[in-house]
Parts: sequence; structure tokens; C-alpha cells
Amino acid sequence: MTNKIKRTAVVTGGSRGIGRAISLELADADTSVYFNYLSNKAEADKTIELIREAGGCGYAFKADISVFEEVKIFFDKIFQHTEKIDVLVNNAGISKDGIIPLLKEDDWDKTINTNLKGAFLCSKLAVKKMLRQKYGRIINISSVVGFTGNPGQAAYSASKAGIIAFTKSAAQEFASRNITVNAVAPGFIDTDMTKMLPEKVQKEIAAKIPLGKIGENKNVADAVKFLSSEKASYITGQTIHVNGGMYM
Ligand code: NAP
Repeated sequence: MTNKIKRTAVVTGGSRGIGRAISLELADADTSVYFNYLSNKAEADKTIELIREAGGCGYAFKADISVFEEVKIFFDKIFQHTEKIDVLVNNAGISKDGIIPLLKEDDWDKTINTNLKGAFLCSKLAVKKMLRQKYGRIINISSVVGFTGNPGQAAYSASKAGIIAFTKSAAQEFASRNITVNAVAPGFIDTDMTKMLPEKVQKEIAAKIPLGKIGENKNVADAVKFLSSEKASYITGQTIHVNGGMYM
């Protein structure tokens, strides 16, 4: 099957949470969304179903973004459908927590390799197309803790701070080719990742957010949609904080 007219968006980690909301937000009659997932096929199928119910077009592929060979196969599959990539959203991420003396080396590696190296690998392949097209929008999902740090989240915070420097470097590398690269830094958003925390802790965090509530996936997806649009054509190397005022 070929699809040469539609706008193409690639989203990593579209099977659940923020990535699902972003996939839903970007998919419409003019934009096909290609997303990957790590292992959760049932949830990936659900995202596709939701996209189709909303009148959009979505495709899901299993691929571990921390492994170059898998990323390559993921993009090869995308290029069997379409010749271009207009938007890349580096969303997939994991959090392996623990205070530094107890944090396992393997957990450090998995976190950095998924959150930071994964964004590099996907950008590396997507931007080759974007450079030829002289057009592209890359949006990287960072986190509030990439700015504030967080005890027990050294690896995760470091990966998300790294995403910001990566975003600024890429923005400077590609600006002359009409490719913008920006980041969105969510605060505390209601997803599987945050549901892992005890309810008491979730309530304590919510109480400290100036807007008084935990964020929704759609809040993040709305910012991504804006950065992917023509309305954001003069914005690059920036971060939009979607955090209810948690960090200013
Ligand atoms: P989530 O609900 O845990 O979903 C994670 C997604 O990433 C899933 O689709 C998962 O696939 C995929 N994934 C994980 N590891 C992967 C890998 N190695 N290769 C490919 N896909 C992989 O997470 P979320 O809360 O929506 O978070 C999405 C992004 O927002 C992450 O980068 C996270 O760090 C960031 N963020 C979240 C919050 C928050 O409060 N939730 C705050 C700040 C930043 P499977 O379904 O197959 O496992």
C-alpha cells in the first residue's frame, strides 16, 4: 500500500498514556499516524481502533526504541506505506526509580537507553527524510523533573534533562532546512506511569500544583499538536511546560 499525499506523523510509545493521546490528536483525515509500542499489542490495537473511530488513519508496529536494529525495521515498515515523515514525536519513556546508592546499573542503562538514546535513534532515521523534504517537525517529550531534578529519579531526570540539550542541538543543526525541534515537558499527568505511585502520594503532589489538579494526557497532546502545526512555524529549540504551574 502507498500513501503519498497524506501528512505523516510518527509517534513512539503510542499504545498507552500520553502517546495514545498524541496519536489521537494528530490523526485526522489529512494525517496518518504511525506509532510503535514495546510489548502491549492489545493496547496498541485499542489506539488504532480509537483513531479509526475518530475518522483517522493509524498503524502500529512493535519496536524497542532503545535498539537500533528494531528502530530501523520500524522505519523501514513505515516507508513501505509512505515516502515522507512530516512529524516525529519522541514520546516513549520509562521510569526506573531508586536512590543513587541503590539504583541498579541495568536500570540506569535501560532508562537512559529508552528515554534519551531512543529519541536520538528515531530522530536520526526520521530526519534523513525531513532534510530531503526541507520540512519537518520534531517534538521531544521531556519532563518537569528534567528541570527540577527529583530524589529517587536520578536516571529519569538525567534522561529528561538530556532531552532538552538534545532538542536545542538538533534545532540548531536543522533550522536552515525548515525543520523545527521542540520539547514538551509535562508535569504530573494521570497515566500508568504515575498510577504506580500510592494514592496518598498522588494526592500530596496534586495539592502542591498551583492549578490544583493532576494533568490529563490531552493537555500534553494539545501542546504537541500546536508545535506540529503551521502556527508554530517560527518556534524552534523551545520547551513548552505543561504542568499546571508546578514549575515556573
Ligand atoms: P506510559 O503510560 O507508561 O506509556 C509508555 C509508552 O511507551 C507505552 O506505549 C510503552 O509501550 C512505550 N514504551 C516504553 N518503552 C519502550 C521502548 N523501549 N520502545 C518502544 N516503546 C516503549 O507512559 P506515559 O506516562 O504516557 O509517558 C509518556 C512520556 O511522557 C514518557 O516519555 C514520560 O517520561 C513522559 N512524561 C510523563 C509524565 C507523567 O506524569 N505521566 C510526566 C512527565 C513526562 P507498551 O505499552 O508496549 O509498554
